[in-house]
Parts: sequence; C-alpha cells; structure tokens
Amino acid sequence: MIYLDNAATTKPNEDVIQSYIQMNTQYFFNPNSPHTAGVKIAHLIDKARDNIKQYLNLNDKFDIIFTSGATESNNIALQGMAQAKKRFGKTILTTKIEHPSVLETMRTLEEQGFNLQYINTLENGKLDITSLKKLLNDDVVLVTCMHVNNIMGQIQPIEEISNILKDYPKVHFHVDGVQGFGKVNLNINLVDSYSLSAHKFHGLKGSGILAFKQAKTIQPIIFGGGQEYGIRSGTVNAPVNIALTKAMRQMDAQMDSNIKLLTEKGKEIRQFIDQYEGVLINSPIDAAPYILNVSFPGVKGEVLVNAFSKYEIYLSTTSACSSKKSSHNETLKAMGLSNIIIEGSIRISIAPDLTNEQIEAFKDAFDKVYNEVKELLKYEL
Ligand code: PLP
Repeated sequence: MIYLDNAATTKPNEDVIQSYIQMNTQYFFNPNSPHTAGVKIAHLIDKARDNIKQYLNLNDKFDIIFTSGATESNNIALQGMAQAKKRFGKTILTTKIEHPSVLETMRTLEEQGFNLQYINTLENGKLDITSLKKLLNDDVVLVTCMHVNNIMGQIQPIEEISNILKDYPKVHFHVDGVQGFGKVNLNINLVDSYSLSAHKFHGLKGSGILAFKQAKTIQPIIFGGGQEYGIRSGTVNAPVNIALTKAMRQMDAQMDSNIKLLTEKGKEIRQFIDQYEGVLINSPIDAAPYILNVSFPGVKGEVLVNAFSKYEIYLSTTSACSSKKSSHNETLKAMGLSNIIIEGSIRISIAPDLTNEQIEAFKDAFDKVYNEVKELLKYEL
C-alpha cells in the first residue's frame, strides 16, 4: 500500500498509541479530582501545555486550550471572538477558500447579524492583500484565513497580513494552522489564535488545540463545568491530550529534516507528472511541498482515485475531510479553475517517510493510469 492522502489524515506514531494506552490503563484519573492521583494528572496536563508552547515557540501571552480537533477550535475561536467583540464592530473577513469549519462558522455568524465580507484570492490561490486593505475599516473585528490550503497547498502570507492588521488593534486575527504545522514554518506569535488537529501530524483523531492569546477574552460557546479556562467545558481527556503532546514533540524535533524530505520528494513527483501531456498541475510552484493537486481534464477525479486504488495507491479527489460537501468545489472555483479541471482533479499528499521504492511504484502506476485514460483527456479547456 502506498498512502498519498496525508492531508486527509496521517498514520499515528507508535509511541503516540503507546502513550494513549498507558495513560488509559495507569493514569486514567480525572485531573479535576481532588485526590493525589487526580492532582498528578492535573500536573501532567499543565506540563503538556508548557511543552506545547515550547514546541510552537509561543510567548507567554498564549494559553493552550485542548479541544476535539480543529473544527471545534475554529468554532470556539471564531464564534467566541465575534461575540466578545460585537460591541466594537460587526464586520468579519475571510476568504472563500477556507475549510468548511471556518466558512460555515462565518456564514452562521452572518445569519446572526454580522457583516461577512470575503477577501479576494489571486489566481495562485493566495489571499489578495489589496482586497484585504480595501475591506479593512473601523467596524472590522475579526479576520481569519488558513495558513496552508488543504486542497492546493498554497501558503498564505500570514506575516504580511499580521503586519497590516497592526494598524487595526481591535481586530482579532485567527489562523487555521491545520495543514501548516510541521510542514511550513510560521512564527505563530504574529497571530491572535491558531488551530490544530493532532491527526494531521501523526497523532490521534478527535484531538486538537486552540492556541489563544489570553484565552479569558473569548466568550465561551460551550457551557458546563468550566474546564479549559472556562472555554471548553467537559471532562478533560488527559490520555488524548498527552498523546497530542507526544506527536507534537516528535514533529518539532524532526521539523527541519521533514521539510527537507517533503521538499525533495514533492519536487521529484511534481517533475515526473509535469512530463505528461494533457495533465495539469494546479498547485502553485511555491505551495507547501507535501500537497500536489493535479487535473486530468475530461476524466472524473473519482475514476482516477479508483484507478490508483487498483494499484493500492491511496490518494484523494480534492478534499477528503469535507468531500461529502460540495464546498471543496467552491474553493477551486474561487481560484478561477474551470469545471472540467475541477472535476478531473486529484490531490496527492505525501509524508516524509515515503520511500524511494514507493515513489518508483507510484510512477509506474501513474504511467499505467495515464495510458488507461489518455484517450479521454480534453485539451480544449
Ligand atoms: N482546517 C483545515 C485546513 C483542514 O484541512 C481540516 C481537516 O481536514 C480542518 C480544518 C478540520 O480538522 P478536523 O476534521 O480534524 O476537525
């Protein structure tokens, strides 16, 4: 099996799984219990928060809130900050190429009376800075975008946006960092909040964080026992949170070598595919190296995914994490791609442990699939 769908989810590390099992068997206690076992777990969780801040190079202004994943983190940050800031202004800004966990949240806020405006994106999928500047005014309280796009891999200019927003101190700047962490460097201190899902960096599903500058400023959207700074009530899932910290430690330690490996392997695959007449590479050249979006115009993405599956190569149409919705097409449309290119697109997303033998096997399979479908390729787009 050759797994090329790492933007959808990654394989959990062995020591992450072991840590989860150990915590559940030996340290299953509730960190809110007053007995010594509970207190011990509470200390472990505090230590985990400190470690996470260290791995993410965060300054002391940040708090770490454990969540069930980035969908929840995005909801907490966006809904919570829009509500907390509404007396200062009602305009919220995002792009049309966000993950549904951001787009749908922003649209729900619009239904609640916020003025939602979309920042344009350029042809290469990057946020258009001129459009952002035009939309900014004294009524804007929230700006959000992703760091790395889950479908194309383009990297957003977070530093530049953060610099521009310095002139608008009322604005909360939230970044969905799901596809960026461990693969593309970012100084997270430049943003006000940042979401992650553990399963995208070899951790467990149902586990994530929201790194937030001064968590107490968020208006909670979940009510209950007041855990996680009162923002995310519910019994703390210590085994999952410790497992996330383990996965993050490993990512942090291997960050530079991983980026190097992803860049080399991504480039090799890109150059190989580039030779095939009629096949288009949609990901911009400066995209995150582990995501490559490719189109076979005239052939449906589903047909291609099945064709590769026959060779036990697992890749995705566009975005498996939201593929039950049509919103991934919305992203591609916003980037100005025609329907025929969108329908024929697949996403190849690699992990650093992809071996040279696997790359060669992928190349063989690609050649076979190409020959199976080449009669169907349309050159007039
Ligand atoms: N944001 C981005 C960019 C994603 O790619 C995903 C999932 O693929 C999410 C948010 C949501 O993450 P989760 O499904 O783990 O909550």
